[in-house]
Amino acid sequence: MSKLIVNSADSSTVFQQELEELINNHRQDANLGKVATYIPELAKSNPKHLGVSIRLLSGEIVEAGDVRVPFTMQSISKVLTLALALMDHGEEYVFKRVGMEPTGDPFNSIVKLETIHPNKPLNPMINAGAIAVSSMIRGNKVEKKLERVLTFIRKLSKNSEISYNEKVAESESKTSDLNRALAYFMREHEVFEGDIEEILEFYFKHCAIEVHCLDLANIGAVFANNGQDVETGETLIPPKIARICKTFMVTCGMYNASGEFAIQAGFPAKSGVSGGILGTVPTKMGIGVLGPSLDDKGNSVAGVKLLESMSDRWNLSIF
Ligand code: GLN
Repeated sequence: MSKLIVNSADSSTVFQQELEELINNHRQDANLGKVATYIPELAKSNPKHLGVSIRLLSGEIVEAGDVRVPFTMQSISKVLTLALALMDHGEEYVFKRVGMEPTGDPFNSIVKLETIHPNKPLNPMINAGAIAVSSMIRGNKVEKKLERVLTFIRKLSKNSEISYNEKVAESESKTSDLNRALAYFMREHEVFEGDIEEILEFYFKHCAIEVHCLDLANIGAVFANNGQDVETGETLIPPKIARICKTFMVTCGMYNASGEFAIQAGFPAKSGVSGGILGTVPTKMGIGVLGPSLDDKGNSVAGVKLLESMSDRWNLSIF
């Protein structure tokens, strides 16, 4: 196992070489999965892409593979909207409306909404929970809410150019009967009130926020640093809220593969059906991965294996 602290030009080169070697080892894993097609725009992604960016808390960046390819955050945005809802309303308000437990079901499942009482969604990392969280973000119009999420994400990622991909948002909106079903079911059961189409428009748009691997690595670094800006020390997310988000990432971030990922990789992570993964290794680094070919649970097939190998190689498990 090599050392992960990059404190000289030499160790930085070694780290870089090791990362490139791992990317090469995992490129062929893309063949084990398929890109998401239920959002038609995502079907255009290249399944062979694989890239990873790392932002160490000491400041250095290490990257390998296809890191210049833009992709939409999809479910990764759920971590950021949760953080914002908690900053807007506090824990009591948010957790009265969304639970704290993993489901063991697919990310878009409706089944537990009916069988669990009260009918609130089990956690904010599944679609039902994230739609409920979307209804909580302050702002009287979709544009205002979206602007607030974008401002937050731009600040965390240190990239003022981040915006959303209109085509992807539209493509999802046209085909999203299942998310509509979840939203109508929850409104009927008073999980939230308001205009369903507006809440969903906001949800689809924040899922379509477009990033690169380094943006995710920078966001992950803030979480790894207890919510503080890595360079200035400014508090961007209150430490308790950063902790809550990281805990959800461990218990629910990889959906019904979260247990296995916690054992094999062992650090907080959140995936999206675009093939992106946001990783955060407390006190050490933020990680951004792209690998659009997905396994049957909706996680990047090569990305997950790459993160597991990185964890093995550099001893990244927090457990
Ligand atoms: N926008 C996607 C959806 O609602 C997000 C799902 C995901 O990334 N797992 O289906």
